[in-house]
Amino acid sequence: MISVLGIPLDENSSFIRGAAGAPKKIMEAYHSPSANYCAENGADVSKDNRWKDLGDINLSAMPEALADIENAVTNELNAGNKVISFGGDHSITYPIIRAFGKKYSNLNILHFDAHSDLYQDFEGNPLSHACPFARIMENKLATRLVQIGIRTLTPHTREQSKKFNVEVIEMKDWNDSITFSFNGPIYISLDLDALDPAFVPGVSHYEPGGFSTRQVISVIQQLKGNIVGADIVELNPLRDYNDMTAMVAAKLFKEILVKMLH
Ligand code: MN
Ligand code: MN
Repeated sequence: MISVLGIPLDENSSFIRGAAGAPKKIMEAYHSPSANYCAENGADVSKDNRWKDLGDINLSAMPEALADIENAVTNELNAGNKVISFGGDHSITYPIIRAFGKKYSNLNILHFDAHSDLYQDFEGNPLSHACPFARIMENKLATRLVQIGIRTLTPHTREQSKKFNVEVIEMKDWNDSITFSFNGPIYISLDLDALDPAFVPGVSHYEPGGFSTRQVISVIQQLKGNIVGADIVELNPLRDYNDMTAMVAAKLFKEILVKMLH
């Protein structure tokens, strides 16, 4: 069974808030009568009873919210389920991976983002959405971290990526023949700002020069290996136009879901 969790936390956003409203918007877009429920492989995911939408989890204020997230994900993993989480800002990925780390000792993470999110701390907050992958790597919760879409490295985050042996494929070096294959379980962390803002106006940080929707879909479809979990984060409905970004998120959700189901 795959459990879909909404994680409405945006307290660790460094620029503007709003991502807490995203999980409901993504699920609304998924159910929009403007589209159908089929993934591109032809599977109607609405007719597949091997996944369930659990809605938004209840969260305490920070920092207890992080324990709430870890506990919710741990409960699902202990029940034998895989988990897809809708953020929320990217700070949710650290407590999610803490839960995965208790089950998987050899987790691979494929991380889509404009930003490496490797700051040691950001503006005094080590749990900022700019820091989750520093926390994950210093706690040795992933054996491989592969980052794609990256186009904002600073001297500090470049140094951090070396320190933690992160495999960074910067956007300037991307070509569409790159595909991925992992030994062991794979977790996908998808920050929507990996895409160009032209495709996803509903994100907090506009970083031009990113992936097209089609490029992200292709990476997901060509991915080889056992995907055990995923998150889709950083949709900010307050910045969206006509739910364009929510529709992109819902489309990517369906593509990830069928990869996990089949
Ligand atoms: Mn991010
Ligand atoms: Mn980002």
